[in-house]
Amino acid sequence: MEKNQKIVLASRPTTWVEESNFRLEQSDIPVPGANQVLVRNRWLSLDPYMRGRMSDAKSYAAPVQIGAVMVGGTAGEVIKSNHPEFTAGDTVVGALGWQTWGVADGSTLRKVDARAIPLSAYLGPVGMPGVTAWVGLLDICAPRAGETLVVTAASGAVGSVVGQLAQIHGARAVGIAGGPDKCRYVMDELGFDACIDYKAGNLHGDLRQATPNGIDCLFENVGGEIFDTLLGRMNPFSRVALCGLISQYNGESCPLNNIRSVLVNRIRMQGFIVTDDLSRWPPALKELGGHIIAGRIKYRESVAEGLAAAPAALISLLKGGNFGKQLVKLG
Ligand code: NDP
Repeated sequence: MEKNQKIVLASRPTTWVEESNFRLEQSDIPVPGANQVLVRNRWLSLDPYMRGRMSDAKSYAAPVQIGAVMVGGTAGEVIKSNHPEFTAGDTVVGALGWQTWGVADGSTLRKVDARAIPLSAYLGPVGMPGVTAWVGLLDICAPRAGETLVVTAASGAVGSVVGQLAQIHGARAVGIAGGPDKCRYVMDELGFDACIDYKAGNLHGDLRQATPNGIDCLFENVGGEIFDTLLGRMNPFSRVALCGLISQYNGESCPLNNIRSVLVNRIRMQGFIVTDDLSRWPPALKELGGHIIAGRIKYRESVAEGLAAAPAALISLLKGGNFGKQLVKLG
């Protein structure tokens, strides 16, 4: 009889995540209770925030308990429903975690149409990463036509949407990415106005050249030295949407030598979490869906095959090994 495959947190990493921090287990396929839905997960989203959930340091969300299934966004197919809004065969997005089957209260699931847009994209540009890009860009950076926006981790799930959306809203988009392949993709496929390969070793000079009028909006995903360098290039009354600090998720510290720029340029900097205001999700998803269908926003996926490949894929993501949205195909 088929079993539920699941990956649980075996131990907490202190610096870099290792495969030994996870354990693959099996259990019976769960039975849905009142108002619950049984879902066969087809796709698992891997995201940088998972590093935070593996730690019990104080944060905006509770950590995963040792022995519990790793948290994660999922997309799949309804097999059995005890909720009036779902029927078998519906495709849904939820947060059922690192497992091949799951049950959830129907109120926590979102029904999606996988005909016009592929199911996996609901975990990327028309899912949490897309909404993150939309909220940070439009609510916090609020670029005006002709302004220069810079986004770090520009080829990734969030960054790729940020730059394309900024251009749709009339701004000039400059990406920062690691390596010539990612930069070529950001320029040639996504159509950014410029892209800087921070690994080429000339970030200061390349940045000056790519942003002749300085930076009006910074969508920050990385932190560390890159963030510090960008702060030094910001214009008076510019805005920073502080979305992520992935270069510091494994315990690295970051001296901000250019923090003075925030004062002298009267920069408005705001950290945010995509779930802060759930009323922003419907308009964000509506706009993003329209852009995807019309081909105005392009995206790329890195796909790991099978649940057992998830730990290695997360470790790779945290080191920049992904190219576009990192997913696990669950079959
Ligand atoms: P990505 O698809 O962008 O993948 C992560 C990328 O980060 C890597 O591909 C790599 O790109 C870059 N990176 C990793 N380590 C470093 C490093 N040491 N220095 C520089 N770059 C590095 O991930 P997401 O789009 O899912 O997430 C991007 C950011 O957004 C993360 O910081 C994440 O935590 C944050 N986030 C925040 C949310 C919120 O609500 N605030 C919600 C969702 C995401 P490269 O090879 O180009 O360096």
